[in-house]
Amino acid sequence: MFRPSAQRLRGLQLLSCGLRDSPGRPRWVSRREGEENPPLPTETKWKDRAETVIIGGGCVGVSLAYHLAKAGMKDVVLLEKSELTAGSTWHAAVGFHQPGSIRIATTPVRVDEFKYQMTRTGWHATEQYIIEPEKIQEMFPLLNMNKVLAGLYNPGDGHIDPYSLTMALAAGARKYGALLKYPAPVTSLTSRSDGTWDVETPQGSLRANRIVNAAGFWAREVGQMIGLEHPLIPVQHQYVVTSSIPEVKALKRELPVLRDLEGSYYLRQERDGLLFGPYESQEKMKVQDSWVTSGVPPGFGKELFESDLDRIMEHVEAAMEMVPVLKTADIINVVNGPITYSPDILPMVGPHQGVRNYWVAIGFGYGIIHAGGVGKYLSDWILHGEPPFDLIELDPNRYGKWTTTQYTEAKARESYGFNNIVGYPKEERFAGRPTQRVSGLYKTLESKCSMGFHAGWEQPHWFYKPDQDNQYRPSFRRTNWFEPVGCEYKQVMQRVGVIDLSPFGKFNIKGQDSIRLLDHLFANVIPKVGFTNISHMLTPKGRVYAELTVSHQSPGEFLLITGSGSELHDLRWIEEAAVKGGYDVEIKNITDELGVLGVAGPRARKVLQKLTPEDLSEDAFKFLQTKTLKVSNIPVTAIRISYTGELGWELYHRREDSAALYDAIMNAGQEEGIDNFGTYAMNALRLEKAFRAWGSEMNCDTNPLEAGLEYFVKLNKPADFIGKQALKQIKAKGLKRRLVCLTLATDDVDPEGNESIWYHGKVVGNTTSGSYSYSIQKSLAFAYVPIELSEVGQEVEVELLGKNYPAVIIQEPLVLTEPTRNRLQKKR
Ligand SMILES: Cc1cc2nc3c(=O)[nH]c(=O)nc-3n(C[C@H](O)[C@H](O)[C@H](O)COP(=O)(O)OP(=O)(O)OC[C@H]3O[C@@H](n4cnc5c(N)ncnc54)[C@H](O)[C@@H]3O)c2cc1C
Repeated sequence: MFRPSAQRLRGLQLLSCGLRDSPGRPRWVSRREGEENPPLPTETKWKDRAETVIIGGGCVGVSLAYHLAKAGMKDVVLLEKSELTAGSTWHAAVGFHQPGSIRIATTPVRVDEFKYQMTRTGWHATEQYIIEPEKIQEMFPLLNMNKVLAGLYNPGDGHIDPYSLTMALAAGARKYGALLKYPAPVTSLTSRSDGTWDVETPQGSLRANRIVNAAGFWAREVGQMIGLEHPLIPVQHQYVVTSSIPEVKALKRELPVLRDLEGSYYLRQERDGLLFGPYESQEKMKVQDSWVTSGVPPGFGKELFESDLDRIMEHVEAAMEMVPVLKTADIINVVNGPITYSPDILPMVGPHQGVRNYWVAIGFGYGIIHAGGVGKYLSDWILHGEPPFDLIELDPNRYGKWTTTQYTEAKARESYGFNNIVGYPKEERFAGRPTQRVSGLYKTLESKCSMGFHAGWEQPHWFYKPDQDNQYRPSFRRTNWFEPVGCEYKQVMQRVGVIDLSPFGKFNIKGQDSIRLLDHLFANVIPKVGFTNISHMLTPKGRVYAELTVSHQSPGEFLLITGSGSELHDLRWIEEAAVKGGYDVEIKNITDELGVLGVAGPRARKVLQKLTPEDLSEDAFKFLQTKTLKVSNIPVTAIRISYTGELGWELYHRREDSAALYDAIMNAGQEEGIDNFGTYAMNALRLEKAFRAWGSEMNCDTNPLEAGLEYFVKLNKPADFIGKQALKQIKAKGLKRRLVCLTLATDDVDPEGNESIWYHGKVVGNTTSGSYSYSIQKSLAFAYVPIELSEVGQEVEVELLGKNYPAVIIQEPLVLTEPTRNRLQKKR
């Protein structure tokens, strides 16, 4: 029986315990394979200078060493404290197999999820198909098909032995000249004023131009050497291996890897048996929190935790129902090892804000899968000074001081337990919230709205309306917030609305070189004193790194505003440019000090004018002007700008004044019918005005010309801003694709972004964001299409939940902005 007897369970636990004090390669691997691994080569030479020092010889660190050396970097040194693969990486199956993988849907909503996934992968090179139950049965004949509705098949998937993978990469790294040194535990890291690092090990010290932390579940400890608290926590993960099963042995070809999403486990063939790995719920899973509070036990290497089959029993039962031959199988091995989790389970990859020349490649929940790609990605970034493509989800700077240990633990639990839950659009996860980083309005608004999580902040997404369903009900189709968001849209278009924008990233920049620095960083000109503009930081290759609002507050002093998710991402870039160019500037991150309220709509002026003696009239307070003034006696920096495209102001004020300012505005606006609005309505409003969003329409995969940002890019300005030369070349060569606005009539679903665009039976592009347009009562989306298909009136199709909807390219914007309407009216 697969269900283990108490005796067998005890036996397994003993085996695991026995491994705890067995040094070197784990015994179970050798036993199972019946052979020892070849002796590990050790390096004897030592270098005292390195271009890059990589700390950690797991699959991730070794992959980076390989790619850097292969790309021609001299003096790549990897320091490993014991031996290669001594961390999480050794947990292995055998060989390289590519039988494909199938995710199994047993509920209709899963089928929707597969369709949602299909349109997202449709415009990428990776092959993926939805397959019918008959095909699944053919590929996986041992499956109980009773509940199976569909499968998501990835023919390129497979499994590999991490030890061999790492050793192959190590051999390649050495071949190209990298030094892989072990045992060489890094014991201290000291930065020098020129940006280089002193790296100490008992075997010697060396100076590095850059260090990369790839220390797996010790990464937190390496971070602590330089005063950082990386938000990482080890969790226990178990998998079970069975003995030979006659029905498996009789198969003519290897079974595809199976993921039963409802049962929350993966299962694959292991020789003539099966290997089964479950993800327990967040209540049952085990976090190794003592490693965070007291550190990884000294000397911990390739040990295992004690196995605990009770914890995974419900998954075992689900697997036995789905793959009945498991009922007759014997367990020959249970592996329970540590995996490092970040709060959102995605790794942290890239340069770290606040510490020069310190890079990380840490927090890998699926490091074997990711190692190859991440090594290449990071190597390209290090060598070329910009990410080779957009992978913003992995930016280590998405976390910050708000990511406490309690938060990290709560999130790691949730992320582990949610490994196989349905991934809805606009998904919210609630563990660990709220953090300490709430806006001054949090208490006031908490019970009135559905909050979204943005870099530690809580921000209203949509507000509850009387007699409406207020629950969080995510869906692939329009759901319970569709009507409330429509009301908020009207509120802003017809009356006046207030929105909490406190999560914005905010920086103060001043000093004698501030103008020169910003002129070098931004593709736009520097706004005049008292004015604001939208400016983009480009990469050397002329792609969009970031978009900021730049306000010139007093001569040489600037307030820079960016989105909530890009605060430290942008700050790092600015700081690096300042240091590199030797600019004499003071850069201050004032994100947590300031709150921001947006007031927008045709009656915004009337409401605010009641609260300030400052003249807010069209001529006295122009579009994009910025002034410091008092609103209800509260000091604010007011910018006449609104992402809604309607008449509006953003009011920057001390965070502790937020509630008083909000109350004053709401009271003053009673007569004008003032009310709240959230970011969902804001999104619909900005899409109608054809305002691009950073991270969607523009990122480091796009250049500003194809994104339709020409207006903000001043190729003729005297300063040689970053990316200028590259952009001139892009312009001279001509564009291959362009961002366009599309409308489409659907039934009950709206585009979100990342959907495939079809033309004559072929995928030709992708949407970048979308929404319902409450003004024309159709869906609206931005999309990249080939230049020859980018004319107004061109018809294409947008794939949504497995159906292609006819769409047409429209003249943007769908709705004119308030300043444009004003200008046109004056002309008449
Ligand atoms: C049971 C189990 C099953 C898994 N299954 C899968 C799977 O199916 N697919 C998948 O993709 N992933 C899987 N994983 C996760 C995967 O093993 C890890 O994500 C991956 O190995 C992480 O690799 P790494 O290089 O980041 O870290 P590690 O392999 O932990 O390597 C870090 C290295 O840094 C060294 N080090 C630490 N501190 C120092 C220091 N101060 N100086 C020098 N060296 C130092 C360590 O000795 C270690 O060798 C599984 C993990 C477990 C436990």
